[in-house]
Amino acid sequence: MSFSLVDTTFFFANFVAYAKKNRRFIMSKLTDSFGRQISYVRLAVTDRCNLRCQYCMPAHGIDIVPRAALLTYKEMYRVIRVLTELGVTKARLTGGEPFVRKGFMDFLEMLSHNDLLEDINITTNGVLIFKHIEALEKLKKVKNINLSIDSLQVDTFNAITRRTVFDDVFKTMEALEKSSLNLKLNVVVQSGINTNEITDFTALTKDKNIAVRFIEEMPFNGEGQRETQENWNYNRILQEIKTRFELTEVSSEKSSTSRNFSIENHQGTVGIIPAFTRTICSDCNRIRITSTGTFKNCLFDDGVFNLREFLRKGASNEDLKELFLSLVKEKPKNGFVAEVNRKKGNVSESMSTIGG
Ligand code: SAM
Ligand code: SF4
Repeated sequence: MSFSLVDTTFFFANFVAYAKKNRRFIMSKLTDSFGRQISYVRLAVTDRCNLRCQYCMPAHGIDIVPRAALLTYKEMYRVIRVLTELGVTKARLTGGEPFVRKGFMDFLEMLSHNDLLEDINITTNGVLIFKHIEALEKLKKVKNINLSIDSLQVDTFNAITRRTVFDDVFKTMEALEKSSLNLKLNVVVQSGINTNEITDFTALTKDKNIAVRFIEEMPFNGEGQRETQENWNYNRILQEIKTRFELTEVSSEKSSTSRNFSIENHQGTVGIIPAFTRTICSDCNRIRITSTGTFKNCLFDDGVFNLREFLRKGASNEDLKELFLSLVKEKPKNGFVAEVNRKKGNVSESMSTIGG
């Protein structure tokens, strides 16, 4: 059975009939056709953002969807609840910028009541989170904050984000480091822009208990295309770190997106996320849901099902369960297969709409 985003209405009628005949799926766990267990969902709570990072969107921003096209918090809660009943234990909330959506803190509180969810992680640009840190520490399931910061120099930071909020983000970084939350820094490595800071970011791990993770830049930039001078892939980044530091690889969770390293006498660690070279797909345990409710089996696919329409047409939790069990069977072997199977052409949508 294959699904298309465009024919949801036709699909819905047929799916319900199909589902009724196939109740055998119920109570199963989410496993794809390659035996990978799905235990992690990344949910974009909005497509809106208060920054305009060059690698993510054009200077004028992206065409945001009407508010009614976003999943409501209630719908998001329900989708996550059903997924946890199928074995998902971790959720990452991302965006756009999650903290620009009104009521986000209340949503976190609501989600914390899902007893099947073990971890709630957040990816944020750090502009609006400072005043919420204490409240976040009290939410037991909120454990990891990934803070995106691509430069430690104010001018470069401003040029990358096209905004002037460096001081706020830096202050947030220091406060998060002192908090009880685990802090990871996401640094997108941008050829010719911040590559001279790779070792400075690595040096931060000496006295700070943080995990600095360098991410290969991907072409998800909302067609704000930039010419890159050099290919800063996993190996190139690793070599650059090694010019100043001796690294020892540390064991990571099987499904980790990064390969991680320690440095003698450093409190923190460094990692590299081979997001574009995609050498991590064989252990992938995740699915994605965009802010408009598009279900994605892979970052590189172009969306395999419109959950929002399905929900708003009255799908029950059992219908949702059967849908998810079927959808994950379509999960492609890796990101290259997903990219080849795209119907909408090359990847060019903004990461802000997908949720990075
Ligand atoms: N606004 C939040 C933030 O920036 O952390 C959350 C959403 S953002 C889309 C999630 C992550 O995707 C960020 O760490 C960001 O740096 C990363 N990202 C965005 N566009 C990217 C691209 N073209 N290549 C690699 N990473 C990208
Ligand atoms: Fe906004 Fe995050 Fe994209 Fe930057 S990377 S524009 S902060 S969504």
